[in-house]
Amino acid sequence: MTIEELWKSVLGEIELHISRPNFLTWLKQSHLMQKDDKNGVVLVGLPNNFAKEWVQGRYHKLILGSLRSLDGSIKSVDYVVTSSDTAPLPVAAASRVRAEAPVQSQEPLLEMAVDPKTGLSPRYTLDSFIVGSSNELAHAAVQAIVADVGTKYNPLFVYGGVGLGKTHLIQAAGNAIQEAYHAKVRVLYVTSERFINDVVGALRNKRMEDVKRKYRDIDVLIVDDIQFIGGKAATEQEFFYTFNTLYEHNKQIIISSDRPPSAIPTLEERLRSRFEGGMIVDVSYPDYEVRLAILKTKIQLQGVSVDEKILSLIAEKVQKNIRELEGVLNKVLFYQQYRGERVTERKLETIISEVAHVASRNITAADIMKTVSEFYDVLPDELTNRSRKKEIVLPRQVCMYLMRELISLSYPHIGELLGKRDHTTAIHAYEKILKALHSDAALNQKVVRITEKLQNG
Ligand code: ADP
Ligand code: MG
Repeated sequence: MTIEELWKSVLGEIELHISRPNFLTWLKQSHLMQKDDKNGVVLVGLPNNFAKEWVQGRYHKLILGSLRSLDGSIKSVDYVVTSSDTAPLPVAAASRVRAEAPVQSQEPLLEMAVDPKTGLSPRYTLDSFIVGSSNELAHAAVQAIVADVGTKYNPLFVYGGVGLGKTHLIQAAGNAIQEAYHAKVRVLYVTSERFINDVVGALRNKRMEDVKRKYRDIDVLIVDDIQFIGGKAATEQEFFYTFNTLYEHNKQIIISSDRPPSAIPTLEERLRSRFEGGMIVDVSYPDYEVRLAILKTKIQLQGVSVDEKILSLIAEKVQKNIRELEGVLNKVLFYQQYRGERVTERKLETIISEVAHVASRNITAADIMKTVSEFYDVLPDELTNRSRKKEIVLPRQVCMYLMRELISLSYPHIGELLGKRDHTTAIHAYEKILKALHSDAALNQKVVRITEKLQNG
């Protein structure tokens, strides 16, 4: 079977499992770009990032299952964006490029293997964390903690802007602790969203004991993006109790946030002072040397090479966000590896502006409210008032869904924006719409149209 035929069979099977509009919207333009027989990885190309995330998030299991049932040698699936301005490679060309392409990247494979017990991804290690003046204090604090869990800097509070390595560092802390102490020390990494969801779910199902067990029966608790936890009494209280219980038993707590505790206005005073009683460190913008070192480590890890001049140009030009730095590098690698193109300085300029453009075309909550209210022909005020009329409730829920889906706002924040509602309302709306998208073709098409409007500005 050629990979083209293989993919056709997979799509045929998936079509039976998901709604027609979903299929047409998300999978019709997909391709199987390559299959690496050596390590059993197949690469699926999707037309844009949105489709990539969607498919990866919702249909991955289905796709992998179907692929495996057809070809037992397949172990995992990777997803890439084949940019819309360039037609996807015909399958024959793809396999030709593959023959010349350097070794398949190992990294995406690792990335998928988040340990469900600890929440840790092996991708983030201290070894792959480049240290420079922008993060050396934070890094040193983590090292001290690994050497001496629970007694030194407790809690450790790491803060800094988007894409500066907070998640990487605190995940790496968890991995290093696991490695040093094995099963003797139980580590749990969660985002604050996850914590909120657990508490909300437990309150709803009256299973608070489960949450208590999950969060108090551990030695190291790592909470990412704590800024979202503030402002909701029940979760904040549960977090406070969890915190105290762990703290009193000399358990290690590591927290990240996009700003220092003093600048999280919704945070309860008693939690703030707890945080301030530990060690507070920041990560800031990396300098040129660090940026270049990050790029070099990354290509080394992937076993690929990129022209020195191009690497230094990327490091020189992308300054404010390491995720963006990696985004540009990935795009360069994509052109090199899968399209067999040498990236010139001119081409690099375009790539950088494309990546920056996507990052800067930030859809805001206000954009979503405006677009949804126009689409459904309701007044923006109606989305935020107390009305429970059916004509208003649905657009409001769609609004909540999109705020979560497109711009990852926290549930408390979404509730707040749409008429100071409780975050449980936002969670309910998100889940309801998500489910409905699979069964209600008309709604699905509407949501797709609204999304397109938002993405096209
Ligand atoms: P944040 O959580 O602060 O938004 P992340 O930890 O997600 O940022 O970092 C964004 C990306 O940059 C990740 O892929 C991460 O691995 C990488 N990164 C950040 N800082 C470093 C560093 N010092 N060394 C190597 N990679 C880094
Ligand atoms: Mg993060």
